[in-house]
Amino acid sequence: PDPTLRPERLPDDDGPAMRPQSLDAFTGQAEARANLKVFIESARMRGKAMDHALFHGPPGLGKTTLAQIVAKELGVNFRMTSGPVLAKAGDLAAILTNLEARDVLFIDEIHRLNPVVEEVLYPALEDFELDLVIGEGPAARTVRIELQPFTLVGATTRLGLLTTPLRDRFGIPIRLQFYTVEELQAIVARGARLMGIEADPDGVREIAARARGTPRIAGRLLRRVVDFALVEGDGRLSRELADQALTRLGVDKLGLDGADRRYLTLIAEHYQGGPVGIETLSAALSESRDALEEVIEPYLLQNGLIQRTPRGRMLAQGAWTHLGLMPPTVRGG
Ligand code: ADP
Repeated sequence: PDPTLRPERLPDDDGPAMRPQSLDAFTGQAEARANLKVFIESARMRGKAMDHALFHGPPGLGKTTLAQIVAKELGVNFRMTSGPVLAKAGDLAAILTNLEARDVLFIDEIHRLNPVVEEVLYPALEDFELDLVIGEGPAARTVRIELQPFTLVGATTRLGLLTTPLRDRFGIPIRLQFYTVEELQAIVARGARLMGIEADPDGVREIAARARGTPRIAGRLLRRVVDFALVEGDGRLSRELADQALTRLGVDKLGLDGADRRYLTLIAEHYQGGPVGIETLSAALSESRDALEEVIEPYLLQNGLIQRTPRGRMLAQGAWTHLGLMPPTVRGG
């Protein structure tokens, strides 16, 4: 599948210009924003570090962006790392001991923390203390290091993979939702403005409607459509041009791309609409189970195209209609 159509982060993504810099400039996620505003304000009034926060939801919805905004609004430094990068306890210790009072430490993909590192994190979160083992064998001893109070913001696409003790240490859990078409329209319109491109409202809406509820995809589709507008059009982002460009990129009217359609078609044509187990799908599509569960399925579920049942995944009526196929019960009858 074309990686430019997937919501995972790519190197050319997320140019700083596109990232909103304040809570007020951040579109959508109204509930999360309203709550964060209170927690930030309260932390500032008390002069204390904000409670640890956990942002969860599918990739590309703004977890990193929001974490940066939290630091900015708290008026503190932002440090960023990720679960897989923190291989050893010492890696985490090096970061924690360098934090200044009330700083925000962002750990992306926190569900992928090494268990040894996670153990070191617990006392750091609870008491702002670090217990480090120095030396080996009989000479080994533990030293306790006092840390500056800080705020951990963890992000995960897979809440269910977090250990319970880790989950319990976040005072502020926040679930990010897919964006509405209207919210994505505002984001695309802003992006077009920042790129200096003249955009018709209908053109903006066409991109927004096909961005899978995800700002990262909206931004990417916008950049590709602008390429077509500049090179093959008159430089204006119109509905017709957006439609042609997106169709050429393999993005259909619902915003599904080739990988999504392969997933749905497989269940329709090889499993009569299901139910079929996730491992079977993963093997048949040569996609990791994680990729299916984190990236492909959330949007299909949200749009009522598939259902998760105890016996596996099933196509919903909407998927048959979208694929232009007849469900087996209707076929011939
Ligand atoms: P995540 O960490 O959830 O994967 P990011 O915070 O990296 O997502 O956001 C992905 C991209 O989408 C970034 O380019 C960011 O600027 C943009 N983005 C995310 N949320 C918004 C929003 N509410 N308004 C405008 N742009 C957004």
